[in-house]
Amino acid sequence: MPSALPLRSAEIIAVGSELLGTVRLDTNSLYLTEQLACLGIEIRTKHIVGDHRETLARVFENARDRADLIVFTGGLGPTDDDLTREVVAGVLGRTLDIDEAIVERIRARFARRGMAMPDVNRRQAQVPRGATVLENPNGTAPGLLLEDEQRLVVLLPGPPRELIPMFAALCERVLAARAGAERLYTASLFVTGRSESDVEQRVQPIYSTWRDAEPRIETTILAVMGQIELHLSTRGADPASARARIDAARDELARVLGDDVYSTDGRSMPEIVGERLRVRGYAIAAAESCTGGLLLSRMTDVPGSSDYVYGGVVAYENEAKVAWLDVPEALIAQHGAVSEPVAVAMAEGIRAKTGAQVAVAITGIAGPGGGTVEKPVGTVAYAVLVPDQPAYVRTHVFLGGRDMVKFQSTQAVLDRVRRLLR
Ligand code: AMP
Ligand code: MG
Repeated sequence: MPSALPLRSAEIIAVGSELLGTVRLDTNSLYLTEQLACLGIEIRTKHIVGDHRETLARVFENARDRADLIVFTGGLGPTDDDLTREVVAGVLGRTLDIDEAIVERIRARFARRGMAMPDVNRRQAQVPRGATVLENPNGTAPGLLLEDEQRLVVLLPGPPRELIPMFAALCERVLAARAGAERLYTASLFVTGRSESDVEQRVQPIYSTWRDAEPRIETTILAVMGQIELHLSTRGADPASARARIDAARDELARVLGDDVYSTDGRSMPEIVGERLRVRGYAIAAAESCTGGLLLSRMTDVPGSSDYVYGGVVAYENEAKVAWLDVPEALIAQHGAVSEPVAVAMAEGIRAKTGAQVAVAITGIAGPGGGTVEKPVGTVAYAVLVPDQPAYVRTHVFLGGRDMVKFQSTQAVLDRVRRLLR
Protein backbone atom coordinates (compact mmCIF):
# COMPACT_ATOMS: atom_id res chain seq x y z
CA MET A 1 0.00 0.00 0.00
CA PRO A 2 1.41 3.42 -0.85
CA SER A 3 2.45 5.59 2.06
CA ALA A 4 -0.13 8.26 2.75
CA LEU A 5 -1.20 10.91 5.22
CA PRO A 6 -2.51 9.50 8.49
CA LEU A 7 -6.23 8.83 8.67
CA ARG A 8 -7.78 11.37 11.01
CA SER A 9 -11.43 11.74 10.05
CA ALA A 10 -13.98 9.19 9.00
CA GLU A 11 -17.57 9.04 7.83
CA ILE A 12 -19.86 6.06 8.12
CA ILE A 13 -22.49 5.32 5.51
CA ALA A 14 -25.03 2.73 6.69
CA VAL A 15 -26.93 1.40 3.70
CA GLY A 16 -30.32 -0.28 3.73
CA SER A 17 -33.92 0.87 3.43
CA GLU A 18 -34.80 -1.25 6.46
CA LEU A 19 -32.65 1.10 8.58
CA LEU A 20 -34.97 3.97 7.68
CA GLY A 21 -38.01 2.09 8.96
CA THR A 22 -39.10 1.57 12.52
CA VAL A 23 -38.01 -2.00 13.22
CA ARG A 24 -34.30 -2.08 12.44
CA LEU A 25 -31.72 0.14 14.10
CA ASP A 26 -28.27 0.99 12.74
CA THR A 27 -26.07 -0.47 15.46
CA ASN A 28 -23.05 -1.07 13.24
CA SER A 29 -22.07 2.58 13.33
CA LEU A 30 -21.86 2.50 17.12
CA TYR A 31 -19.38 -0.34 16.99
CA LEU A 32 -17.42 1.30 14.17
CA THR A 33 -17.31 4.63 16.00
CA GLU A 34 -15.93 3.02 19.11
CA GLN A 35 -13.26 1.12 17.22
CA LEU A 36 -12.24 4.17 15.20
CA ALA A 37 -12.11 6.34 18.31
CA CYS A 38 -9.59 3.93 19.80
CA LEU A 39 -7.39 4.58 16.79
CA GLY A 40 -7.79 8.32 17.23
CA ILE A 41 -9.93 8.56 14.09
CA GLU A 42 -12.80 10.95 14.60
CA ILE A 43 -16.29 10.51 13.16
CA ARG A 44 -17.42 13.88 11.85
CA THR A 45 -20.78 12.73 10.53
CA LYS A 46 -22.62 9.55 9.67
CA HIS A 47 -25.37 8.73 7.26
CA ILE A 48 -28.20 6.28 6.89
CA VAL A 49 -29.16 5.84 3.26
CA GLY A 50 -31.93 3.70 1.79
CA ASP A 51 -31.32 1.32 -1.11
CA HIS A 52 -31.42 4.13 -3.64
CA ARG A 53 -28.72 4.46 -6.25
CA GLU A 54 -28.70 8.22 -6.85
CA THR A 55 -28.88 9.15 -3.17
CA LEU A 56 -26.15 6.75 -2.23
CA ALA A 57 -23.87 8.06 -4.98
CA ARG A 58 -24.46 11.64 -3.87
CA VAL A 59 -23.75 10.90 -0.21
CA PHE A 60 -20.55 9.06 -1.16
CA GLU A 61 -19.37 11.90 -3.41
CA ASN A 62 -19.90 14.41 -0.60
CA ALA A 63 -18.13 12.23 1.91
CA ARG A 64 -15.12 12.05 -0.42
CA ASP A 65 -14.73 15.82 -0.10
CA ARG A 66 -14.39 15.58 3.66
CA ALA A 67 -13.17 12.29 5.07
CA ASP A 68 -9.89 10.39 5.06
CA LEU A 69 -11.77 7.17 5.62
CA ILE A 70 -15.24 6.21 4.42
CA VAL A 71 -16.83 3.09 5.84
CA PHE A 72 -19.93 1.59 4.23
CA THR A 73 -21.99 -1.00 6.04
CA GLY A 74 -24.67 -3.03 4.29
CA GLY A 75 -25.86 -3.27 0.73
CA LEU A 76 -23.51 -6.13 -0.10
CA GLY A 77 -26.22 -8.79 -0.34
CA PRO A 78 -26.88 -10.75 -3.53
CA THR A 79 -30.14 -9.10 -4.53
CA ASP A 80 -30.92 -6.19 -6.83
CA ASP A 81 -31.53 -3.78 -3.98
CA ASP A 82 -27.98 -4.23 -2.68
CA LEU A 83 -26.18 -1.43 -4.46
CA THR A 84 -23.08 -0.51 -2.47
CA ARG A 85 -20.54 -2.30 -4.69
CA GLU A 86 -21.99 -0.89 -7.90
CA VAL A 87 -22.38 2.65 -6.63
CA VAL A 88 -18.87 2.80 -5.18
CA ALA A 89 -17.35 1.37 -8.36
CA GLY A 90 -19.42 3.83 -10.42
CA VAL A 91 -18.39 6.90 -8.48
CA LEU A 92 -14.73 5.87 -8.48
CA GLY A 93 -14.86 4.95 -12.16
CA ARG A 94 -13.73 1.38 -11.56
CA THR A 95 -14.84 -1.66 -13.53
CA LEU A 96 -16.45 -4.49 -11.58
CA ASP A 97 -14.89 -7.88 -12.27
CA ILE A 98 -16.15 -11.23 -11.07
CA ASP A 99 -13.53 -12.84 -8.83
CA GLU A 100 -13.84 -16.57 -9.49
CA ALA A 101 -12.03 -17.42 -6.23
CA ILE A 102 -14.82 -15.66 -4.33
CA VAL A 103 -17.47 -17.48 -6.38
CA GLU A 104 -15.85 -20.74 -5.37
CA ARG A 105 -15.81 -19.79 -1.68
CA ILE A 106 -19.49 -18.86 -1.80
CA ARG A 107 -20.29 -22.06 -3.68
CA ALA A 108 -18.42 -24.10 -1.05
CA ARG A 109 -20.30 -22.31 1.72
CA PHE A 110 -23.63 -23.34 0.16
CA ALA A 111 -22.33 -26.86 -0.45
CA ARG A 112 -21.52 -27.27 3.24
CA ARG A 113 -25.22 -26.78 3.92
CA GLY A 114 -26.07 -29.23 1.13
CA MET A 115 -27.29 -26.51 -1.20
CA ALA A 116 -26.44 -25.29 -4.66
CA MET A 117 -25.37 -21.65 -4.95
CA PRO A 118 -28.13 -19.54 -6.50
CA ASP A 119 -26.92 -17.63 -9.55
CA VAL A 120 -27.64 -14.24 -7.96
CA ASN A 121 -24.88 -14.82 -5.44
CA ARG A 122 -22.32 -14.26 -8.22
CA ARG A 123 -23.01 -10.57 -7.64
CA GLN A 124 -21.27 -10.88 -4.28
CA ALA A 125 -18.09 -11.89 -6.10
CA GLN A 126 -17.94 -8.59 -7.98
CA VAL A 127 -14.79 -6.69 -7.11
CA PRO A 128 -14.05 -3.11 -8.18
CA ARG A 129 -10.73 -3.11 -10.00
CA GLY A 130 -7.80 -2.56 -7.60
CA ALA A 131 -9.79 -3.41 -4.48
CA THR A 132 -8.51 -5.69 -1.72
CA VAL A 133 -10.92 -8.44 -0.76
CA LEU A 134 -11.67 -8.83 2.96
CA GLU A 135 -12.53 -12.42 3.80
CA ASN A 136 -15.85 -13.12 5.46
CA PRO A 137 -15.70 -16.38 7.43
CA ASN A 138 -19.22 -15.74 8.77
CA GLY A 139 -21.19 -15.06 5.61
CA THR A 140 -21.20 -14.98 1.83
CA ALA A 141 -20.44 -11.31 1.10
CA PRO A 142 -16.75 -10.48 1.33
CA GLY A 143 -15.78 -6.97 2.34
CA LEU A 144 -13.78 -4.65 0.12
CA LEU A 145 -11.02 -2.14 0.73
CA LEU A 146 -10.18 0.53 -1.84
CA GLU A 147 -7.49 3.15 -2.07
CA ASP A 148 -9.07 6.34 -3.37
CA GLU A 149 -6.38 8.98 -3.81
CA GLN A 150 -5.30 9.80 -0.22
CA ARG A 151 -8.33 8.19 1.28
CA LEU A 152 -9.50 4.70 2.13
CA VAL A 153 -12.93 3.33 1.32
CA VAL A 154 -14.14 0.23 3.13
CA LEU A 155 -17.23 -1.81 2.27
CA LEU A 156 -18.53 -4.08 5.02
CA PRO A 157 -21.46 -6.52 5.11
CA GLY A 158 -24.51 -5.43 7.13
CA PRO A 159 -25.03 -8.31 9.57
CA PRO A 160 -23.17 -7.38 12.77
CA ARG A 161 -21.83 -10.90 13.30
CA GLU A 162 -20.12 -10.64 9.91
CA LEU A 163 -19.07 -7.01 10.16
CA ILE A 164 -17.54 -7.05 13.64
CA PRO A 165 -14.82 -9.69 13.14
CA MET A 166 -14.06 -8.36 9.67
CA PHE A 167 -13.61 -4.81 10.90
CA ALA A 168 -11.59 -5.90 13.92
CA ALA A 169 -9.17 -7.69 11.60
CA LEU A 170 -9.01 -4.67 9.30
CA CYS A 171 -8.21 -2.34 12.21
CA GLU A 172 -5.41 -4.57 13.32
CA ARG A 173 -3.93 -5.30 9.91
CA VAL A 174 -4.43 -2.02 8.05
CA LEU A 175 -6.07 0.86 9.88
CA ALA A 176 -3.81 0.85 12.94
CA ALA A 177 -0.81 1.41 10.69
CA ARG A 178 -2.60 4.08 8.67
CA ALA A 179 -3.97 6.03 11.63
CA GLY A 180 -1.82 8.70 13.23
CA ALA A 181 0.45 7.81 16.14
CA GLU A 182 -2.14 9.27 18.51
CA ARG A 183 -4.61 6.96 20.17
CA LEU A 184 -7.60 7.59 22.37
CA TYR A 185 -7.34 6.50 26.01
CA THR A 186 -10.44 6.29 28.16
CA ALA A 187 -11.39 5.72 31.76
CA SER A 188 -14.70 5.67 33.55
CA LEU A 189 -16.16 5.99 37.02
CA PHE A 190 -19.62 4.73 37.95
CA VAL A 191 -21.25 6.51 40.85
CA THR A 192 -24.33 5.68 42.85
CA GLY A 193 -26.24 7.41 45.62
CA ARG A 194 -25.67 10.94 44.32
CA SER A 195 -27.51 13.18 41.91
CA GLU A 196 -25.97 14.29 38.65
CA SER A 197 -25.76 17.89 39.83
CA ASP A 198 -24.12 16.88 43.10
CA VAL A 199 -21.49 14.86 41.23
CA GLU A 200 -21.01 17.74 38.80
CA GLN A 201 -20.46 20.21 41.65
CA ARG A 202 -17.81 18.06 43.21
CA VAL A 203 -15.85 17.17 40.11
CA GLN A 204 -16.24 20.35 38.05
CA PRO A 205 -13.47 22.29 39.87
CA ILE A 206 -11.11 19.44 39.06
CA TYR A 207 -11.97 18.61 35.48
CA SER A 208 -12.29 22.25 34.45
CA THR A 209 -8.54 22.58 35.00
CA TRP A 210 -7.93 19.74 32.53
CA ARG A 211 -9.68 21.48 29.67
CA ASP A 212 -6.89 23.95 29.11
CA ALA A 213 -4.16 21.43 29.73
CA GLU A 214 -2.31 20.08 26.75
CA PRO A 215 -3.06 17.32 25.98
CA ARG A 216 -6.64 17.83 27.06
CA ILE A 217 -8.66 15.44 29.12
CA GLU A 218 -12.33 15.42 28.11
CA THR A 219 -14.94 14.69 30.74
CA THR A 220 -18.52 13.61 30.09
CA ILE A 221 -21.11 13.14 32.83
CA LEU A 222 -24.09 10.95 32.04
CA ALA A 223 -27.10 10.00 34.13
CA VAL A 224 -28.05 6.45 33.23
CA MET A 225 -30.97 4.69 34.94
CA GLY A 226 -30.70 6.73 38.09
CA GLN A 227 -26.95 6.57 38.45
CA ILE A 228 -24.08 8.64 37.24
CA GLU A 229 -21.32 7.75 34.84
CA LEU A 230 -18.19 9.83 34.33
CA HIS A 231 -16.28 9.16 31.14
CA LEU A 232 -12.80 10.53 30.64
CA SER A 233 -10.71 10.50 27.50
CA THR A 234 -7.42 11.83 26.30
CA ARG A 235 -5.23 11.48 23.25
CA GLY A 236 -1.61 10.63 23.17
CA ALA A 237 1.13 9.15 21.03
CA ASP A 238 2.92 7.48 23.92
CA PRO A 239 0.77 4.71 25.39
CA ALA A 240 2.42 4.58 28.80
CA SER A 241 2.26 8.28 29.57
CA ALA A 242 -1.26 8.71 28.14
CA ARG A 243 -2.49 5.75 30.17
CA ALA A 244 -0.81 7.12 33.29
CA ARG A 245 -2.35 10.55 32.70
CA ILE A 246 -5.89 9.25 32.28
CA ASP A 247 -5.59 6.87 35.23
CA ALA A 248 -4.32 9.66 37.48
CA ALA A 249 -7.24 11.84 36.39
CA ARG A 250 -9.69 9.06 37.16
CA ASP A 251 -8.14 8.48 40.58
CA GLU A 252 -8.34 12.18 41.40
CA LEU A 253 -12.08 12.20 40.73
CA ALA A 254 -12.52 8.93 42.60
CA ARG A 255 -10.92 10.50 45.69
CA VAL A 256 -13.42 13.35 45.91
CA LEU A 257 -16.39 11.06 45.32
CA GLY A 258 -15.26 8.50 47.87
CA ASP A 259 -17.18 5.31 48.43
CA ASP A 260 -20.03 6.44 46.17
CA VAL A 261 -17.81 5.34 43.30
CA TYR A 262 -18.57 1.69 42.82
CA SER A 263 -16.55 0.98 39.70
CA THR A 264 -13.45 2.49 38.14
CA ASP A 265 -12.77 -0.20 35.58
CA GLY A 266 -16.02 -0.50 33.66
CA ARG A 267 -17.33 -3.42 35.72
CA SER A 268 -21.04 -3.41 36.48
CA MET A 269 -22.61 -3.33 39.93
CA PRO A 270 -23.45 -7.06 39.87
CA GLU A 271 -19.83 -7.85 39.00
CA ILE A 272 -18.51 -5.68 41.82
CA VAL A 273 -20.92 -7.15 44.36
CA GLY A 274 -20.17 -10.67 43.13
CA GLU A 275 -16.48 -10.02 43.69
CA ARG A 276 -17.08 -8.92 47.29
CA LEU A 277 -19.22 -11.99 47.99
CA ARG A 278 -16.64 -14.30 46.45
CA VAL A 279 -13.77 -12.82 48.45
CA ARG A 280 -15.65 -13.48 51.70
CA GLY A 281 -16.95 -16.86 50.63
CA TYR A 282 -20.54 -15.69 51.19
CA ALA A 283 -23.64 -16.86 49.38
CA ILE A 284 -26.54 -14.51 48.63
CA ALA A 285 -30.26 -15.27 48.56
CA ALA A 286 -33.04 -12.91 47.55
CA ALA A 287 -36.74 -12.53 48.22
CA GLU A 288 -38.15 -10.31 45.53
CA SER A 289 -41.62 -8.93 45.10
CA CYS A 290 -41.94 -5.91 42.79
CA THR A 291 -38.67 -6.64 40.98
CA GLY A 292 -39.95 -10.05 39.86
CA GLY A 293 -36.52 -11.71 39.91
CA LEU A 294 -34.61 -8.85 38.29
CA LEU A 295 -32.03 -8.73 41.07
CA LEU A 296 -31.05 -12.36 40.67
CA SER A 297 -31.33 -12.05 36.91
CA ARG A 298 -28.77 -9.25 36.94
CA MET A 299 -26.52 -11.12 39.34
CA THR A 300 -26.66 -14.28 37.23
CA ASP A 301 -25.77 -12.34 34.08
CA VAL A 302 -22.23 -12.48 35.46
CA PRO A 303 -20.29 -15.59 34.43
CA GLY A 304 -19.20 -17.58 37.46
CA SER A 305 -22.03 -16.25 39.65
CA SER A 306 -22.83 -19.80 40.75
CA ASP A 307 -19.87 -19.32 43.13
CA TYR A 308 -22.01 -17.03 45.32
CA VAL A 309 -25.64 -16.92 44.15
CA TYR A 310 -27.69 -19.37 46.22
CA GLY A 311 -31.10 -18.52 44.80
CA GLY A 312 -34.32 -16.96 45.89
CA VAL A 313 -38.04 -16.61 45.44
CA VAL A 314 -40.34 -14.19 43.70
CA ALA A 315 -43.05 -13.70 46.30
CA TYR A 316 -45.44 -11.40 44.52
CA GLU A 317 -48.75 -12.15 46.24
CA ASN A 318 -49.09 -11.60 49.97
CA GLU A 319 -49.96 -15.30 50.25
CA ALA A 320 -46.63 -16.18 48.68
CA LYS A 321 -44.80 -14.01 51.20
CA VAL A 322 -46.56 -15.86 53.98
CA ALA A 323 -46.30 -19.38 52.53
CA TRP A 324 -42.76 -19.27 51.19
CA LEU A 325 -41.03 -16.78 53.48
CA ASP A 326 -42.99 -17.19 56.73
CA VAL A 327 -43.84 -13.51 56.79
CA PRO A 328 -46.50 -13.22 59.54
CA GLU A 329 -49.89 -12.40 58.07
CA ALA A 330 -50.47 -9.96 60.92
CA LEU A 331 -47.37 -8.01 59.93
CA ILE A 332 -48.71 -7.49 56.42
CA ALA A 333 -52.14 -6.58 57.78
CA GLN A 334 -50.63 -4.06 60.18
CA HIS A 335 -48.00 -2.37 58.00
CA GLY A 336 -48.94 -3.27 54.45
CA ALA A 337 -46.94 -5.45 52.05
CA VAL A 338 -44.77 -2.49 51.07
CA SER A 339 -43.24 -1.67 54.42
CA GLU A 340 -39.95 -1.96 56.23
CA PRO A 341 -41.12 -4.61 58.74
CA VAL A 342 -42.31 -6.81 55.85
CA ALA A 343 -39.06 -6.26 53.92
CA VAL A 344 -37.06 -7.38 56.96
CA ALA A 345 -39.34 -10.38 57.51
CA MET A 346 -38.93 -11.39 53.87
CA ALA A 347 -35.13 -11.16 54.15
CA GLU A 348 -35.14 -13.13 57.40
CA GLY A 349 -37.44 -15.67 55.78
CA ILE A 350 -35.20 -16.30 52.79
CA ARG A 351 -32.14 -16.43 55.05
CA ALA A 352 -33.78 -19.04 57.26
CA LYS A 353 -34.85 -21.13 54.24
CA THR A 354 -31.47 -21.01 52.48
CA GLY A 355 -28.83 -20.53 55.12
CA ALA A 356 -27.18 -17.94 52.87
CA GLN A 357 -24.94 -15.49 54.73
CA VAL A 358 -26.31 -12.52 52.80
CA ALA A 359 -30.07 -12.17 52.40
CA VAL A 360 -31.93 -9.35 50.67
CA ALA A 361 -35.58 -8.50 50.12
CA ILE A 362 -37.43 -5.98 47.97
CA THR A 363 -41.10 -5.03 48.17
CA GLY A 364 -42.53 -2.01 46.40
CA ILE A 365 -44.99 -0.38 44.06
CA ALA A 366 -43.56 -0.38 40.54
CA GLY A 367 -46.62 1.35 39.07
CA PRO A 368 -48.21 2.76 37.11
CA GLY A 369 -51.18 1.79 39.34
CA GLY A 370 -51.28 0.85 43.02
CA GLY A 371 -49.97 4.07 44.53
CA THR A 372 -51.57 5.86 47.48
CA VAL A 373 -50.98 9.20 49.13
CA GLU A 374 -48.74 7.68 51.80
CA LYS A 375 -47.13 5.20 49.43
CA PRO A 376 -46.93 6.72 45.98
CA VAL A 377 -45.86 4.77 42.90
CA GLY A 378 -42.14 4.09 43.14
CA THR A 379 -42.20 3.46 46.90
CA VAL A 380 -39.88 0.56 47.59
CA ALA A 381 -38.90 -0.96 50.92
CA TYR A 382 -35.81 -3.15 50.97
CA ALA A 383 -33.78 -5.01 53.53
CA VAL A 384 -30.22 -6.31 53.49
CA LEU A 385 -28.86 -8.79 56.03
CA VAL A 386 -25.15 -9.49 56.25
CA PRO A 387 -23.30 -11.35 59.05
CA ASP A 388 -22.41 -9.48 62.24
CA GLN A 389 -24.32 -6.30 61.40
CA PRO A 390 -27.81 -5.12 62.24
CA ALA A 391 -30.48 -5.48 59.54
CA TYR A 392 -30.29 -2.63 57.06
CA VAL A 393 -33.74 -1.48 55.95
CA ARG A 394 -34.81 1.58 54.01
CA THR A 395 -37.71 2.98 52.03
CA HIS A 396 -37.11 4.96 48.84
CA VAL A 397 -39.40 6.59 46.37
CA PHE A 398 -37.87 5.98 42.96
CA LEU A 399 -38.89 8.09 40.00
CA GLY A 400 -39.59 6.92 36.48
CA GLY A 401 -41.61 4.20 34.84
CA ARG A 402 -41.98 0.60 35.90
CA ASP A 403 -38.65 -0.51 34.43
CA MET A 404 -36.81 2.39 36.10
CA VAL A 405 -38.36 1.65 39.49
CA LYS A 406 -37.48 -2.02 39.21
CA PHE A 407 -33.93 -1.35 38.06
CA GLN A 408 -33.21 1.27 40.70
CA SER A 409 -34.58 -1.01 43.42
CA THR A 410 -32.14 -3.75 42.47
CA GLN A 411 -29.33 -1.22 42.16
CA ALA A 412 -29.99 0.21 45.63
CA VAL A 413 -29.97 -3.27 47.16
CA LEU A 414 -26.82 -4.35 45.34
CA ASP A 415 -25.12 -1.10 46.31
CA ARG A 416 -26.02 -1.66 49.95
CA VAL A 417 -24.58 -5.16 49.85
CA ARG A 418 -21.44 -3.64 48.35
CA ARG A 419 -21.16 -1.02 51.10
CA LEU A 420 -21.91 -3.44 53.92
CA LEU A 421 -19.23 -5.82 52.62
CA ARG A 422 -16.64 -3.08 52.34
P1 AMP B 1 -27.09 -6.22 3.80
O1 AMP B 1 -25.59 -6.28 3.78
O2 AMP B 1 -27.62 -4.92 3.33
O3 AMP B 1 -27.69 -7.37 3.01
O4 AMP B 1 -27.58 -6.37 5.32
C1 AMP B 1 -28.12 -7.54 5.80
C2 AMP B 1 -28.69 -7.39 7.19
O5 AMP B 1 -27.74 -6.84 8.09
C3 AMP B 1 -29.86 -6.45 7.32
O6 AMP B 1 -31.09 -7.04 7.01
C4 AMP B 1 -29.82 -6.06 8.77
O7 AMP B 1 -30.47 -7.03 9.53
C5 AMP B 1 -28.36 -6.09 9.08
N1 AMP B 1 -27.82 -4.72 9.03
C6 AMP B 1 -27.55 -4.01 7.92
N2 AMP B 1 -27.06 -2.80 8.23
C7 AMP B 1 -27.02 -2.74 9.57
C8 AMP B 1 -26.60 -1.74 10.51
N3 AMP B 1 -26.11 -0.55 10.10
N4 AMP B 1 -26.70 -2.02 11.83
C9 AMP B 1 -27.17 -3.21 12.23
N5 AMP B 1 -27.58 -4.18 11.41
C10 AMP B 1 -27.51 -3.97 10.09
MG1 MG C 1 -29.53 -4.42 2.49
